[in-house]
Amino acid sequence: MRIIVDRRRCEGHGLCEGMAPELLSADKGRAELLVDGDVPTDQQIAAVTAVRVCPIAALRLI
Ligand code: SF4
Repeated sequence: MRIIVDRRRCEGHGLCEGMAPELLSADKGRAELLVDGDVPTDQQIAAVTAVRVCPIAALRLI
């Protein structure tokens, strides 16, 4: 499982970071991935939650 961030859509709400602080940061006004490649197994629920919470669907999972 990987997280894809559409940085053109992202509005920096930071809700994703709140749900998955080990995977995403919105400190610079746009979501940034903190992991390179696959989401670790113990973070997959957090990843799904982060994708669902984004109000403008700027995140997706592949
Ligand atoms: S919740 Fe969505 S809009 Fe907000 S920082 Fe995360 S990806 Fe961007």
